[in-house]
Amino acid sequence: MVSSYEAVIGLEVHAQLHTKSKLFCGCATAYGAPPNAHVCPVCLGLPGALPVPNAEAIALAVRAGLALGCDVATSSRFARKNYFYPDLAKGYQISQFELPLNARGALEVELPSGTKRIGITRIHVEEDAAKNLHGVGAGTDTLVDFNRAGTPLIEIVSEPDLRSAEEAEAYLRKLRDILMFTGVNDGNLEEGSFRCDANVSIRPAGDETLGTRTEIKNVNSFRFVRMAIEHEIARQQAVVEAGGEVVQETRTWSESHHKTRSMRTKEDAHDYRYFPDPDLPPLVVAQARIDAIGAALPELPDAKRTRWRAELGLTEYDAQVLSAHPAVARYFDEVASALCAQAGGAARDEVGKRAANFVQAEILGHVEQAGLDARFPVPAAALAELLRLVERDVINGKIAKRVLSEMIESGEGAEAIVEREGLAQVTDAGAIEAAVRAAIDAHPAQVAQYRAGKTAVLGFFVGQVMKATRGAANPKQVNALLRELLGEP
Ligand code: ADP
Ligand code: MG
Ligand code: ZN
Repeated sequence: MVSSYEAVIGLEVHAQLHTKSKLFCGCATAYGAPPNAHVCPVCLGLPGALPVPNAEAIALAVRAGLALGCDVATSSRFARKNYFYPDLAKGYQISQFELPLNARGALEVELPSGTKRIGITRIHVEEDAAKNLHGVGAGTDTLVDFNRAGTPLIEIVSEPDLRSAEEAEAYLRKLRDILMFTGVNDGNLEEGSFRCDANVSIRPAGDETLGTRTEIKNVNSFRFVRMAIEHEIARQQAVVEAGGEVVQETRTWSESHHKTRSMRTKEDAHDYRYFPDPDLPPLVVAQARIDAIGAALPELPDAKRTRWRAELGLTEYDAQVLSAHPAVARYFDEVASALCAQAGGAARDEVGKRAANFVQAEILGHVEQAGLDARFPVPAAALAELLRLVERDVINGKIAKRVLSEMIESGEGAEAIVEREGLAQVTDAGAIEAAVRAAIDAHPAQVAQYRAGKTAVLGFFVGQVMKATRGAANPKQVNALLRELLGEP
């Protein structure tokens, strides 16, 4: 009887490359079209049709490899993976086997216990299969929709370096982030453009050799991956503790029963009879092209957050929220850089934090996300114009919110709205003093309270003055003057 077990997990992620057309033909990859709207002889697998690789797909796969620290091969090979299934009309899938495009990468994952490096064995290019639609048409028919057939994918295979469901989830989230920020993948789990197979085994704690693994297929949410792995670890442990042996097999996660169940015994690589695809020459990518793709890699989310914290004084939390989606991050960067162009040092921290707060509180709620793109209620430049008015004390933060809703409604610029509606702050000392004196004269009881030490009453007076000036008085001036005229409490 073994006292404790250690779980070992390796993940295979299939990520759709964000291209307009398929991997080996010109058909569109658009999601949600009527069945079999985007098909041709190549992706239907008709005899004699020849594949031609999509240069954009290859460029995105190289970008993924570089972002994940892989060695990118200047020469790799497409191979046929042979199996029979109705969604695979050719009888084989074009994939890569012995010579993948990318190999030997890694991903650093932040865990409660610190940063952990998870090895990436390989990232190869392959085509997706079609989709079987069960129970459609007349009762129990299964029909095949070939729109997805031939869609470009990369498969990212990790080393068996993960030790728990939490680690697996953290790895997947980080991987998805990087692929989205590099524009390689749209990160859409519901539409299946990012899906994961989890390989799970257990072994006595401290053992070096790997135990027999099971593979859980196609789990399509982070939560389900975590639950499926946790369940599978517990199931294997129960099998072993009851004196049994784990069988190498493919299992599926049942969303309705919240457990994994056996699908089939697992194939080994030799069952697929892999061989180089004679229709496709070696995939050659010049080193100069690889270098150019590397030089054009966009800033990755980790680097972005570090920069925001250092240059704009953002908290880790704010940086996380604003970098959750690449379009939001780009928007915030545009607003912040427009505002901070002239500011330096501490002033820049203040401007950065205010922009971060404003974007989170007033903008994120209106953002409509669609894949990698997002629609914002006002352009970044327009928001920067509004926030610059706050920086210059022309309007205060409260008025800024009101101006923003008018900007959203009318599409007008901030300055035009402030001018037309006379919303500029009253900074004229005389006008503010008159309003402050009027508030003090009208409320002798509160004045007495304040002077007796109830300083919270100050807020009441500020409110009175703001009301009298329709919110347009400069709050800093109001506060200072109130304190002066009310005297020491
Ligand atoms: P395939 O599943 O296509 O046969 P591999 O045998 O290369 O491919 O393994 C795929 C994944 O399984 C990799 O992510 C690898 O880290 C993981 N893996 C391999 N052996 C084990 C094991 N004993 N326990 C857990 N994961 C494993
Ligand atoms: Mg596998
Ligand atoms: Zn086609």
